[in-house]
Amino acid sequence: MEIDYDLIVIGGGSGGLAAAQRAAEYGARALIIESARLGGTCVNVGCVPKKVMWNAAQIAHALHDAPEYGFDSSVRGHDWAALKAKRDAYITRLNGIYEGNLGKRKVDLIRGRARLVGPCTVEVDGRRLTGGRVLISSGGRPWRPAIPGAELGIDSDGFFELETLPAATTVVGGGYIGVEIAGVLAALGSKVTLLLRHDAVLRSFDVMLQEGAMEGLKDAGVQVVTQAVPASVSRAADGRLAVVLEDGRAIAAQDCLIWATGREPVVDFIDASVGVPMDSGNHILVDEWQETALPGLFAIGDVTGRATLTPVAIAAGRRLADRIWGGMAGRKMDYDCIATVVFSHPAIGTVGLTEAEARARHGEDMKVFTSTFVPMYHAMTTAKPKTRMKLVTVGAARKVVGVHLMGPGSDEMLQGFAVAVRMGATKQDFDDTVAIHPTSAEELVTMR
Ligand SMILES: Cc1cc2nc3c(=O)[nH]c(=O)nc-3n(C[C@H](O)[C@H](O)[C@H](O)COP(=O)(O)OP(=O)(O)OC[C@H]3O[C@@H](n4cnc5c(N)ncnc54)[C@H](O)[C@@H]3O)c2cc1C
Repeated sequence: MEIDYDLIVIGGGSGGLAAAQRAAEYGARALIIESARLGGTCVNVGCVPKKVMWNAAQIAHALHDAPEYGFDSSVRGHDWAALKAKRDAYITRLNGIYEGNLGKRKVDLIRGRARLVGPCTVEVDGRRLTGGRVLISSGGRPWRPAIPGAELGIDSDGFFELETLPAATTVVGGGYIGVEIAGVLAALGSKVTLLLRHDAVLRSFDVMLQEGAMEGLKDAGVQVVTQAVPASVSRAADGRLAVVLEDGRAIAAQDCLIWATGREPVVDFIDASVGVPMDSGNHILVDEWQETALPGLFAIGDVTGRATLTPVAIAAGRRLADRIWGGMAGRKMDYDCIATVVFSHPAIGTVGLTEAEARARHGEDMKVFTSTFVPMYHAMTTAKPKTRMKLVTVGAARKVVGVHLMGPGSDEMLQGFAVAVRMGATKQDFDDTVAIHPTSAEELVTMR
């Protein structure tokens, strides 16, 4: 059969761009079909604008601390609209750079919504195209519960469209997106209420980080409401929102309600007749080579539901191209030991097994090292938030299988330690590494 492209990629986000460009570098004829802005979630409504907002929140914290470092400073306010305009302009620049990069690497781009009509056949704008291989990298979208009035709220996409800072905001959801949005809004002056279905945030993280994150939110003035499941949302005569919980409690007089209740894969462009295998949550099922059960049809990134992070989608895409067109047999994504950061205040960094996971796998053949301390930055401040660190080790050799951090600098500190964990470092390796002083990081190599 004659093919139009060696690779057709549906979705020009983190994973799709990476796969197509790497494949083209090896000489494959690659096409990307993108229905919205290039760069996908991460660039447009995820990591990038989020990090800009986190930076603004960090500056708010620093300004708050400035007098304690001797500055005679007064802050007359924060111009949310000006920051948003600048942030949007930065993202528009990035969109252009991404498009330019496709041109440089000779990847074709069609702007439109693709329909998958066969394992290797795609329709877009009334054209039917066949690929030697087709890669689905269509990502995910925010999900919200189907309760009365849910549409009165916004989601994380809507958060990035806000033109002004809401005076009072309710954020629903204790995953990392909810924690991050709540932290930013609180730092910039909104009165934030965070609704949690259970009793803690970040429930898949080590318990030390869950506790630290709860404390950090409370320190920031966020009102955390636990066991709180919204049953309905309504708008009062004054235009403000009220959320009624399943148990009858109500949170009234809210200027904004943000659903951070999870994400769902985008698969509604796949014709049922193609028979793409999916799990109960509609994530596309793939094998270790990112291939579906239909030969030639692959999927990477959030649409597969595994470690839904930008660098994971990128790595999966590049490795797929390395293997198929780069001659690197055996190259594939390793989903173990992926480091991740929550941009809370202070930041959280985590890699490897939590204490509970290590205990479940290794029984009592493990040892945990912890350190809790007030970092030197706060020696000068009235507030004394604690930095928390934990090393999880297993076996007689005390192999380090988990590193969990919360405190200033954890976001930048973790990457290097993730390399060490991946390489199989032991506690002795950590101990034998001479500390860098004075830093928080030195605690990680001096724990006893
Ligand atoms: C608020 C927020 C903050 C985040 N922060 C971080 C972070 O700090 N660090 C991190 O690593 N990750 C973060 N993420 C997650 C990260 O954004 C995703 O894991 C990543 O973008 C997934 O990449 P992807 O290629 O799978 O999909 P996406 O980047 O979502 O790209 C999918 C693309 O496919 C397009 N598409 C879908 N269907 C079609 C179709 N039928 N035809 C044509 N195009 C189509 C979409 O328009 C989209 O552009 C965050 C996510 C959110 C929502």
